[in-house]
Amino acid sequence: MSVNSTRELYVIAGPSGGGKTTLFRALLERFDHLALSVSDTTRPPRRVEKDGEQYCFLDRATFEAGIEAGRYLEHAEVFGHYYGTSKDRVQALWDQGKDVILEIDIQGAEQVAKSHPEATSIFILPPSMAVLSQRLRDRGLDDEAVIERRLSEARTEIEAARDFDWLVINDEFERAFQEISAIIEAWPTRGSRRQAEIEALLAE
Ligand code: 5GP
Repeated sequence: MSVNSTRELYVIAGPSGGGKTTLFRALLERFDHLALSVSDTTRPPRRVEKDGEQYCFLDRATFEAGIEAGRYLEHAEVFGHYYGTSKDRVQALWDQGKDVILEIDIQGAEQVAKSHPEATSIFILPPSMAVLSQRLRDRGLDDEAVIERRLSEARTEIEAARDFDWLVINDEFERAFQEISAIIEAWPTRGSRRQAEIEALLAE
């Protein structure tokens, strides 16, 4: 995995039910140069999920073979299931000229911060624990035991938000979307992207 890619790598994290999915889906619609890397997981698909769309669904043996073979840019066990970012999938998107978004948990975000220090990390915070709890129930995807577990996990995740570059509070979709869009729109002014302009100025 090249650390010298001229393309950007964005890590988006935050507790489940915090509104991450809605925000990054809207980002993908607004910005053509962005693409989401579909992760591998050993979690069974939910009713609405299709293999290759939300995730590539693998069995544990296949996933573990992938870890052994060094196929993952990062991977973690979340709620008893493996999740991982395929190096090849990220590279393929970079090769298409895309900037890549990873929607991953905090363990994965920590690994990416080490292996790709130039990556931009964005944490989506819920406005309150009460709102988070309500959103998890409203989406009707998980049973009560899973919701309770996700809420306690959310606290651990929120602790890790301190280490992120950008914190977006998802109190209201439009406002949060403006904020996260501003982060993406600032990308051309990053130092790593302006090397050619510096060279041109110095050559004058
Ligand atoms: P869910 O099962 O609700 O889709 O996701 C559970 C958690 O796994 C979420 O926090 C999500 O961000 C995280 N996750 C999804 N894909 C990956 C991945 O490729 N790597 C890591 N480390 N976490 C992931």
